[in-house]
Amino acid sequence: MFLSTRELESQPLRFEFSYPVGKFVFDQPGRKEGIRQSEPVAVNGSAELESSVGDIRVRGHIKTTLETECVKCLEKAAIHVDSDFDLVYLPVGVEPDRGDKEINDKDAEVGFYEGNGLELQNVIEEFLILAVPMRPVCKEDCRGLCPVCGMNLNETECNCQPEELDPRWSGLEAIKAPILKL
Ligand SMILES: [Zn+2]
Ligand SMILES: [Zn+2]
Repeated sequence: MFLSTRELESQPLRFEFSYPVGKFVFDQPGRKEGIRQSEPVAVNGSAELESSVGDIRVRGHIKTTLETECVKCLEKAAIHVDSDFDLVYLPVGVEPDRGDKEINDKDAEVGFYEGNGLELQNVIEEFLILAVPMRPVCKEDCRGLCPVCGMNLNETECNCQPEELDPRWSGLEAIKAPILKL
């Protein structure tokens, strides 16, 4: 759905969509590799023109599940997204005499658009990408892989005895190591 400024000039637009699985393809080089859409993306909300210079405000609610790899055990990690969004897009090239106050007063996130409007799907895509944590995990207490044998410690106990190092000492260990080798 294209949110054109011309249409928004006359009235705000309401939207309610369900984008089927496969509509969003994040898993591309240079984008967000390893992320897949595993449920339809349900979104509803509204878009309106916020000011005479053409700020487009898009807000609503989005719900879906994405899937990626757990950084600890490399199994699947589900990312449940069920949240409100409130985004303001400013037209590129309109120099703000407006003072930033107008926007800072609100809780909205700010982006930019070019031309005569913006594509809702791109707005949603951007929001979803930002919803993926930097270090996704399959579960809060994922035990990860054994550093010695590589077994998934969520599924099995191995008999390896990795030298447990208090992580607080690991920096020190790195300093000490070359000396110990002498
Ligand atoms: Zn895991
Ligand atoms: Zn092991």
